[in-house]
Amino acid sequence: MASIEELSAEQALEWDTPLFRQALTQFEQAIPYADVNESIVARLGSPERAVMVAVPIRRDAGLVDVFPAYRVQHSSVLGPTKGGIRYDPHVTLGECAALAVWMTWKCALLRLPYGGAKGGIRCNPRELSLAELQRLTRRYTSELRGVIGPQEDIPAPDMATNEQTMAWIMDTYSMQVGYAVPEIVTGKPVALGGSLFRSEATGAGVVMVVERACERLGWRLDEQRCVVQGFGNVGGVAAQELVEKGASVLAVSDISGAVYSERGLDLASVREWIADHGTLEGYPEAEHVTNAELLEVPCDILVLAALEGQLTGENAPRISARLIAEGANGPTTIEADAILGERGIPILPDVLTNAGGVTVSYFEWVQDLGRLFWTRNEIRARLADKLNDAFDRVWHLAAKKEISLRQAALIAGINEVAAALKARGIYP
Ligand code: GLU
Repeated sequence: MASIEELSAEQALEWDTPLFRQALTQFEQAIPYADVNESIVARLGSPERAVMVAVPIRRDAGLVDVFPAYRVQHSSVLGPTKGGIRYDPHVTLGECAALAVWMTWKCALLRLPYGGAKGGIRCNPRELSLAELQRLTRRYTSELRGVIGPQEDIPAPDMATNEQTMAWIMDTYSMQVGYAVPEIVTGKPVALGGSLFRSEATGAGVVMVVERACERLGWRLDEQRCVVQGFGNVGGVAAQELVEKGASVLAVSDISGAVYSERGLDLASVREWIADHGTLEGYPEAEHVTNAELLEVPCDILVLAALEGQLTGENAPRISARLIAEGANGPTTIEADAILGERGIPILPDVLTNAGGVTVSYFEWVQDLGRLFWTRNEIRARLADKLNDAFDRVWHLAAKKEISLRQAALIAGINEVAAALKARGIYP
């Protein structure tokens, strides 16, 4: 079996970045327990296709700027590739490749007929006007003609992209082919064939997974004190769902910093403040702490719903949560994973915990293809079924093989892809 260094040397290549190494190391750590042979390892160790484009747009002031952009498709063995598009100043090919790999395991674990993809544009979305973001999105979509498609690769929102971004992609693609193609993207507005409950699905899914974990651990969710890093589409919804289920949320954060109250925050007033002031900065009804301090607040459940690389070898020894839930992709480094494992703190891994988003994306795509739409309750119930089923498989595998929940989740995903790859064989 190839070592991680050999895998990295042979396969990391252009996408060799810390995040891709993290994804590859996790893959390598799962391999000994998975049902795979060396050719399967070799095939799944690299993305199938990576596209780099330079996207020009005219700025509002009249000059032209060019932005590097990417789309990486990791595996199409189980079906079209699927995954978000992010707008961020740090997006690289390697980051997209790592995130595409995780999307493959996530879709396979949830038994969705998809492989993984991820894309992004390296830009600072906060410095672009709405009109500039629209031109950027439309030109990026045009550049990806022939790469994305409802049966090939279906984008969705990710960091700093939203329903409006998806609407522009849907419109650009539809104008090019000559008729409306709602199934080209998911996470679009309901008015365009988007699904009810898609925008809340990732955050609500995080709490469904946390709730199932509490049941298995013999804890009452309504007695848990939670800290939520990130207060966007994932963290904001997760925090709200936790409170609705009776738990208390002691701290939340956004890009400006974090707020903390030992008695629990009043989320309605936090949301109101953000609506009026843009960020948490200056919020008067709680103590202000740094993002680093927030992670170390003593609590029962720590929900990571911001960025990758938040728990590291440096801060992992000081984390004082009893359970960690990964709402973001890749928030725990390999070093932190090992330390938290030794300390006996279970981690609900990203590929399971944040899979609510892509699962309802799948429901959206199915509804679009069938031109038949479901109710919100129906979607919520179907999502709970899918997540509970995946959770139970992961929990039992972890217990049976005496491995971490992350390893179990990855193995469950890898085995699905490997079985399909084995049956299909290598073309020609
Ligand atoms: N970007 C989300 C994720 O990381 C959603 C992807 C999708 O819905 O296709 O899972």
